Amino acid sequence: MTSRTAVVTGASSGIGEATARQLAAQGYHVVVGARRQDRLRRLADEIGATALPLDVTDDESVRAFTEAVDGVDVLVNNAGGAHGLAPIAEADLDDWRWMWETNVLGTLRITKALLPKLISSGDGLIVTVTSIAALTTYENGGGYTSAKHAQGVLHRTLRDELLGQPVRLTEIAPGAVETEFSLVRFEGDAERAAKVYQGIDPLVAQDIAEIIGFVADRPARVNLDQIIVKPRDQASAGRFARRG
Ligand code: NAP
Repeated sequence: MTSRTAVVTGASSGIGEATARQLAAQGYHVVVGARRQDRLRRLADEIGATALPLDVTDDESVRAFTEAVDGVDVLVNNAGGAHGLAPIAEADLDDWRWMWETNVLGTLRITKALLPKLISSGDGLIVTVTSIAALTTYENGGGYTSAKHAQGVLHRTLRDELLGQPVRLTEIAPGAVETEFSLVRFEGDAERAAKVYQGIDPLVAQDIAEIIGFVADRPARVNLDQIIVKPRDQASAGRFARRG
Protein backbone atom coordinates (compact mmCIF):
# COMPACT_ATOMS: atom_id res chain seq x y z
CA MET A 1 0.00 0.00 0.00
CA THR A 2 1.38 3.44 -0.89
CA SER A 3 1.62 5.64 2.15
CA ARG A 4 -0.92 8.41 2.57
CA THR A 5 0.18 12.02 2.95
CA ALA A 6 -1.01 14.25 5.79
CA VAL A 7 -0.45 18.00 5.93
CA VAL A 8 -0.45 19.54 9.42
CA THR A 9 -0.46 23.33 9.79
CA GLY A 10 0.90 24.94 12.96
CA ALA A 11 3.06 21.91 13.73
CA SER A 12 5.88 23.75 15.54
CA SER A 13 4.22 23.27 18.95
CA GLY A 14 1.23 21.97 20.88
CA ILE A 15 -1.59 20.09 19.18
CA GLY A 16 -0.06 20.37 15.69
CA GLU A 17 3.29 18.96 16.76
CA ALA A 18 1.65 16.07 18.64
CA THR A 19 -0.61 15.36 15.66
CA ALA A 20 2.34 15.26 13.27
CA ARG A 21 4.06 12.73 15.59
CA GLN A 22 0.90 10.67 15.89
CA LEU A 23 0.18 10.51 12.15
CA ALA A 24 3.83 9.70 11.37
CA ALA A 25 3.64 6.84 13.91
CA GLN A 26 0.51 5.61 12.11
CA GLY A 27 2.48 5.40 8.84
CA TYR A 28 1.52 8.67 7.17
CA HIS A 29 4.03 10.72 5.25
CA VAL A 30 3.61 14.02 7.09
CA VAL A 31 4.21 17.51 5.72
CA VAL A 32 4.51 20.04 8.53
CA GLY A 33 4.17 23.81 8.20
CA ALA A 34 4.64 26.76 10.59
CA ARG A 35 6.65 29.96 10.89
CA ARG A 36 9.31 28.78 13.39
CA GLN A 37 11.64 26.82 11.11
CA ASP A 38 14.13 25.65 13.75
CA ARG A 39 11.44 23.81 15.71
CA LEU A 40 9.82 22.49 12.57
CA ARG A 41 13.06 21.06 11.20
CA ARG A 42 13.91 19.38 14.53
CA LEU A 43 10.50 17.71 14.54
CA ALA A 44 10.76 16.68 10.88
CA ASP A 45 14.20 15.10 11.43
CA GLU A 46 12.86 13.17 14.41
CA ILE A 47 9.75 11.73 12.75
CA GLY A 48 10.89 11.60 9.10
CA ALA A 49 8.51 14.35 7.95
CA THR A 50 8.88 17.09 5.34
CA ALA A 51 9.18 20.58 6.87
CA LEU A 52 8.10 23.58 4.82
CA PRO A 53 7.86 27.23 5.89
CA LEU A 54 4.29 28.40 6.24
CA ASP A 55 2.59 31.60 7.32
CA VAL A 56 -1.14 31.01 6.85
CA THR A 57 -1.77 34.78 6.89
CA ASP A 58 0.41 35.34 3.83
CA ASP A 59 -0.93 34.55 0.32
CA GLU A 60 2.51 34.02 -1.18
CA SER A 61 3.66 31.71 1.65
CA VAL A 62 0.49 29.61 1.31
CA ARG A 63 0.95 29.43 -2.48
CA ALA A 64 4.57 28.21 -2.16
CA PHE A 65 3.63 25.73 0.61
CA THR A 66 0.65 24.20 -1.17
CA GLU A 67 2.41 24.02 -4.55
CA ALA A 68 5.28 22.10 -2.91
CA VAL A 69 2.84 19.43 -1.70
CA ASP A 70 2.47 16.88 -4.53
CA GLY A 71 -0.55 15.06 -3.20
CA VAL A 72 -2.53 15.18 0.03
CA ASP A 73 -4.96 12.76 1.63
CA VAL A 74 -5.37 14.36 5.06
CA LEU A 75 -5.31 18.08 5.87
CA VAL A 76 -5.22 19.12 9.50
CA ASN A 77 -6.13 22.81 9.81
CA ASN A 78 -4.58 23.43 13.20
CA ALA A 79 -2.63 26.72 12.93
CA GLY A 80 -4.37 29.30 15.08
CA GLY A 81 -4.70 30.80 18.49
CA ALA A 82 -5.80 33.77 20.55
CA HIS A 83 -4.40 37.22 21.23
CA GLY A 84 -5.61 39.00 24.33
CA LEU A 85 -8.63 38.69 26.64
CA ALA A 86 -10.55 41.95 26.65
CA PRO A 87 -14.14 43.19 26.73
CA ILE A 88 -15.61 44.30 23.42
CA ALA A 89 -15.64 47.88 24.73
CA GLU A 90 -11.85 47.73 24.93
CA ALA A 91 -11.22 45.53 21.89
CA ASP A 92 -7.78 45.85 20.32
CA LEU A 93 -8.34 45.90 16.56
CA ASP A 94 -4.89 44.48 15.87
CA ASP A 95 -5.57 41.48 18.14
CA TRP A 96 -8.88 40.88 16.37
CA ARG A 97 -7.19 41.17 12.96
CA TRP A 98 -4.53 38.63 14.04
CA MET A 99 -7.16 36.15 15.23
CA TRP A 100 -9.33 36.49 12.14
CA GLU A 101 -6.38 36.36 9.74
CA THR A 102 -4.85 33.30 11.40
CA ASN A 103 -7.85 31.16 12.38
CA VAL A 104 -10.38 32.10 9.70
CA LEU A 105 -8.62 33.35 6.58
CA GLY A 106 -5.63 31.07 7.26
CA THR A 107 -7.91 28.03 7.22
CA LEU A 108 -9.65 29.37 4.11
CA ARG A 109 -6.39 29.97 2.21
CA ILE A 110 -4.93 26.52 2.93
CA THR A 111 -8.17 24.60 2.44
CA LYS A 112 -9.00 26.35 -0.84
CA ALA A 113 -5.53 25.71 -2.24
CA LEU A 114 -5.40 22.02 -1.25
CA LEU A 115 -9.01 21.13 -2.07
CA PRO A 116 -8.36 19.93 -5.66
CA LYS A 117 -5.61 17.60 -4.38
CA LEU A 118 -7.79 16.31 -1.54
CA ILE A 119 -10.59 15.53 -3.98
CA SER A 120 -8.29 13.84 -6.49
CA SER A 121 -6.82 11.64 -3.71
CA GLY A 122 -10.10 9.71 -3.92
CA ASP A 123 -10.44 9.61 -0.11
CA GLY A 124 -9.61 13.01 1.34
CA LEU A 125 -10.08 14.15 4.92
CA ILE A 126 -10.11 17.68 6.31
CA VAL A 127 -9.77 17.98 10.08
CA THR A 128 -10.22 21.49 11.44
CA VAL A 129 -9.24 22.22 15.02
CA THR A 130 -11.75 24.85 16.12
CA SER A 131 -12.56 25.06 19.84
CA ILE A 132 -15.47 25.05 22.26
CA ALA A 133 -15.08 28.80 21.57
CA ALA A 134 -16.61 27.99 18.15
CA LEU A 135 -19.81 26.88 19.89
CA THR A 136 -20.28 29.33 22.74
CA THR A 137 -19.39 32.82 23.88
CA TYR A 138 -17.61 33.96 27.03
CA GLU A 139 -16.87 37.27 28.68
CA ASN A 140 -13.78 39.04 27.31
CA GLY A 141 -13.32 36.35 24.65
CA GLY A 142 -15.20 38.05 21.77
CA GLY A 143 -12.23 38.28 19.42
CA TYR A 144 -11.37 34.61 19.75
CA THR A 145 -14.93 33.24 19.96
CA SER A 146 -16.00 35.21 16.88
CA ALA A 147 -12.98 33.99 14.91
CA LYS A 148 -13.50 30.37 16.01
CA HIS A 149 -17.24 30.59 15.19
CA ALA A 150 -16.34 31.83 11.70
CA GLN A 151 -13.73 29.08 11.25
CA GLY A 152 -16.31 26.50 12.34
CA VAL A 153 -18.92 27.88 9.94
CA LEU A 154 -16.39 27.77 7.09
CA HIS A 155 -15.65 24.13 7.87
CA ARG A 156 -19.32 23.11 8.32
CA THR A 157 -20.34 24.90 5.11
CA LEU A 158 -17.75 22.87 3.24
CA ARG A 159 -19.31 19.65 4.60
CA ASP A 160 -22.47 20.62 2.70
CA GLU A 161 -20.71 21.90 -0.40
CA LEU A 162 -18.54 18.78 -0.77
CA LEU A 163 -21.40 16.31 -0.36
CA GLY A 164 -20.95 13.73 -3.13
CA GLN A 165 -17.19 14.31 -3.34
CA PRO A 166 -14.72 11.83 -1.83
CA VAL A 167 -13.76 14.12 1.06
CA ARG A 168 -14.68 13.73 4.72
CA LEU A 169 -14.76 16.65 7.15
CA THR A 170 -14.23 16.51 10.89
CA GLU A 171 -14.34 19.44 13.29
CA ILE A 172 -12.51 18.95 16.58
CA ALA A 173 -13.64 21.38 19.28
CA PRO A 174 -11.40 21.11 22.36
CA GLY A 175 -11.74 22.78 25.73
CA ALA A 176 -8.63 23.58 27.78
CA VAL A 177 -5.48 21.92 26.44
CA GLU A 178 -2.16 22.83 28.08
CA THR A 179 0.06 24.02 25.20
CA GLU A 180 1.68 27.34 24.33
CA PHE A 181 -1.82 28.67 23.58
CA SER A 182 -2.13 30.78 26.76
CA LEU A 183 1.48 31.96 26.53
CA VAL A 184 0.68 33.32 23.05
CA ARG A 185 -2.64 34.76 24.25
CA PHE A 186 -0.92 36.66 27.08
CA GLU A 187 2.11 37.75 25.01
CA GLY A 188 4.64 35.55 26.81
CA ASP A 189 3.39 36.21 30.38
CA ALA A 190 4.14 32.71 31.77
CA GLU A 191 2.65 33.40 35.21
CA ARG A 192 -0.67 34.50 33.77
CA ALA A 193 -0.67 31.58 31.31
CA ALA A 194 -0.04 29.05 34.11
CA LYS A 195 -3.08 30.35 36.05
CA VAL A 196 -5.38 29.15 33.26
CA TYR A 197 -4.53 25.53 34.12
CA GLN A 198 -4.05 25.99 37.89
CA GLY A 199 -5.87 23.44 40.04
CA ILE A 200 -7.30 21.49 37.10
CA ASP A 201 -6.12 18.50 35.15
CA PRO A 202 -6.17 19.94 31.61
CA LEU A 203 -6.05 17.99 28.38
CA VAL A 204 -2.61 17.59 26.80
CA ALA A 205 -1.79 17.91 23.10
CA GLN A 206 -1.40 14.13 22.76
CA ASP A 207 -5.07 13.64 23.78
CA ILE A 208 -6.18 15.63 20.74
CA ALA A 209 -3.55 14.05 18.48
CA GLU A 210 -4.82 10.56 19.30
CA ILE A 211 -8.39 11.61 18.45
CA ILE A 212 -7.20 13.00 15.10
CA GLY A 213 -5.27 9.76 14.50
CA PHE A 214 -8.44 7.78 15.20
CA VAL A 215 -10.48 9.98 12.83
CA ALA A 216 -7.87 9.61 10.06
CA ASP A 217 -7.91 5.83 10.23
CA ARG A 218 -11.69 5.32 9.96
CA PRO A 219 -12.96 3.66 6.77
CA ALA A 220 -13.90 6.04 3.93
CA ARG A 221 -17.64 5.61 4.66
CA VAL A 222 -17.33 6.98 8.21
CA ASN A 223 -17.55 10.75 8.68
CA LEU A 224 -17.13 11.93 12.25
CA ASP A 225 -18.69 15.38 11.82
CA GLN A 226 -17.90 17.09 15.11
CA ILE A 227 -16.03 16.03 18.23
CA ILE A 228 -16.23 18.11 21.41
CA VAL A 229 -13.60 17.20 23.98
CA LYS A 230 -13.02 18.83 27.37
CA PRO A 231 -11.12 17.99 30.54
CA ARG A 232 -13.28 16.29 33.19
CA ASP A 233 -12.61 19.42 35.28
CA GLN A 234 -14.25 21.72 32.70
CA ALA A 235 -18.03 21.93 32.22
CA SER A 236 -18.08 24.89 29.80
CA ALA A 237 -15.81 27.65 28.50
CA GLY A 238 -16.02 29.52 31.79
CA ARG A 239 -16.71 26.82 34.42
CA PHE A 240 -13.89 24.80 35.96
CA ALA A 241 -13.60 22.64 39.07
CA ARG A 242 -10.39 24.01 40.56
CA ARG A 243 -8.66 22.38 43.51
CA GLY A 244 -6.62 24.24 46.10
P1 NAP B 1 0.18 26.52 20.29
O1 NAP B 1 1.04 25.58 21.07
O2 NAP B 1 0.37 27.98 20.51
O3 NAP B 1 0.31 26.17 18.74
C1 NAP B 1 -0.16 27.03 17.73
C2 NAP B 1 0.50 26.66 16.43
O4 NAP B 1 -0.04 27.50 15.39
C3 NAP B 1 2.01 26.87 16.43
O5 NAP B 1 2.64 25.78 15.82
C4 NAP B 1 2.20 28.13 15.60
O6 NAP B 1 3.43 28.06 14.88
C5 NAP B 1 1.02 28.00 14.63
N1 NAP B 1 0.71 29.29 14.00
C6 NAP B 1 0.30 30.43 14.58
N2 NAP B 1 0.19 31.41 13.67
C7 NAP B 1 0.55 30.86 12.47
C8 NAP B 1 0.66 31.35 11.15
N3 NAP B 1 0.38 32.64 10.85
N4 NAP B 1 1.06 30.52 10.17
C9 NAP B 1 1.36 29.22 10.45
N5 NAP B 1 1.26 28.68 11.68
C10 NAP B 1 0.88 29.50 12.68
O7 NAP B 1 -1.37 26.26 20.63
P2 NAP B 1 -2.30 24.95 20.43
O8 NAP B 1 -3.14 24.87 21.64
O9 NAP B 1 -1.52 23.77 20.02
O10 NAP B 1 -3.24 25.46 19.25
C11 NAP B 1 -3.53 24.70 18.10
C12 NAP B 1 -4.97 24.97 17.68
O11 NAP B 1 -5.85 24.49 18.68
C13 NAP B 1 -5.32 26.43 17.48
O12 NAP B 1 -6.13 26.57 16.32
C14 NAP B 1 -6.09 26.78 18.73
O13 NAP B 1 -6.97 27.86 18.52
C15 NAP B 1 -6.81 25.48 18.95
N6 NAP B 1 -7.33 25.23 20.31
C16 NAP B 1 -6.48 25.25 21.39
C17 NAP B 1 -7.00 25.03 22.65
C18 NAP B 1 -6.14 25.06 23.91
O14 NAP B 1 -6.69 25.15 25.01
N7 NAP B 1 -4.83 24.96 23.79
C19 NAP B 1 -8.37 24.78 22.82
C20 NAP B 1 -9.17 24.76 21.69
C21 NAP B 1 -8.65 24.98 20.46
P3 NAP B 1 4.42 29.28 14.56
O15 NAP B 1 4.25 30.28 15.67
O16 NAP B 1 5.77 28.63 14.53
O17 NAP B 1 3.99 29.78 13.22
